[in-house]
Amino acid sequence: MNLLVVGRGGREHSIVLKLAESEKADRIYAAPGNGGISEIASCVNIDEQNIDRLVDFAVEKQIDLTIVGPENPLLDGIADRFHEAGLAIFAPTKQAAFIEGSKQYAKDFMKQYDIPTAAYASFTDAEEAKTYIEEKEAPVVVKADGLAAGKGVVVAQTTEEAMRTVDEILVNKAFAEAGKSVVIEECLSGREFSLMAFVHGRSVTPMIPARDHKRAYDHDRGPNTGGMGAFAPVTDISEATLKFAVEHILQRAADGLAESGCPFTGILYAGLMMTGDGPKVIEFNARFGDPETQVVLPLLKNDLVEVFLDVLNGRAPELRWEHQTCAGVVLASKGYPGSYEKGALLPEMHPGVNTFIVHAGTRKTTAGLVSDGGRVLLAGAKGQHLADAVDTTYQWLERNVGSEDFFYRNDIGKYQ
Ligand code: ATP
Repeated sequence: MNLLVVGRGGREHSIVLKLAESEKADRIYAAPGNGGISEIASCVNIDEQNIDRLVDFAVEKQIDLTIVGPENPLLDGIADRFHEAGLAIFAPTKQAAFIEGSKQYAKDFMKQYDIPTAAYASFTDAEEAKTYIEEKEAPVVVKADGLAAGKGVVVAQTTEEAMRTVDEILVNKAFAEAGKSVVIEECLSGREFSLMAFVHGRSVTPMIPARDHKRAYDHDRGPNTGGMGAFAPVTDISEATLKFAVEHILQRAADGLAESGCPFTGILYAGLMMTGDGPKVIEFNARFGDPETQVVLPLLKNDLVEVFLDVLNGRAPELRWEHQTCAGVVLASKGYPGSYEKGALLPEMHPGVNTFIVHAGTRKTTAGLVSDGGRVLLAGAKGQHLADAVDTTYQWLERNVGSEDFFYRNDIGKYQ
């Protein structure tokens, strides 16, 4: 089969690595891919949001199945356009992906289908939002409605901070269209975990739970990022909680989307918080998580191409997992998630026996591999226990990365 993976990050490298293990995979293309992906797949220089060119490319290369990594093309309707052209794609339609594209829609949807989540209200008027904040009192969480690359959410510890954030979003238009409305949520507390599932209509096949670390610096300090590391599975979440989350969150969401006329096909990702009252949804995403995917897929024993085909053909696959833990630590460009330089030379990459490397922002040049983004790569390892996987990963990083151009967190997976 000819396969096309859309995207350029660590998540997409991880998907390509897994697809490449399949005997069913003849040619794998990536658009646009990255330095690591180019070693195992043919990278084609088409931007992930240039849907016209992606459709033409898929027709020309007789692509049998396309897998989409990032959210933007989903919300631009890539799946709808591929369907119109008679092309197979493992991705939700624009309407189904709206569960990620609008936080207000996602909250209203959860309320309608009785999916556990934080109490909330949404506003387009700043004064009304502020009156609500005064009633509720801090801490509260203020979220811009649309996609804002992780920057549109503020967990406000004081009423003043919450009000300032409302002004930033609704009055100063800091997120333009993505900030047409705000959602103000009850602030939940508890441990977070992510649960992803292969979904097709009402059929839901969950993966193992993962935990990512979103803050830039050790001890969960500093600004939010796309994710600085992750591990899977998460052993402090009980089987009973996982069962509850699958039945009352993922299944209800798949059923609700089907009932409301926009059945979901693709990866449904639930960002969850384990509260004293059970797991509650922080957010839904309509695609594989990054960096969760990089630590979940290495533990999957199944052939990923077969899994996609089974799901698309209405057969819920039986997933088999290695009885190990996988951890991954992101190497980032100095300055990330603020401004940073690109083009710093990376060390020679030789993964050890038990380690693996997934590229994100890397580019091949004649001088060698150079950085090409904020998150540069993820170094990961599998181990019998979380501590083994974490230790192996850090040993590799200490041996291989000394450059001041990069940094990584030192505490990924070291506390649960
Ligand atoms: P963006 O839309 O800007 O990309 P995002 O989708 O990453 O942002 P969320 O996942 O909704 O944003 O929130 C980011 C983080 O904020 C969560 O991982 C969580 O730590 C915290 N958070 C969000 N909502 C709540 C809540 N109701 N209570 C407590 N913490 C929350």
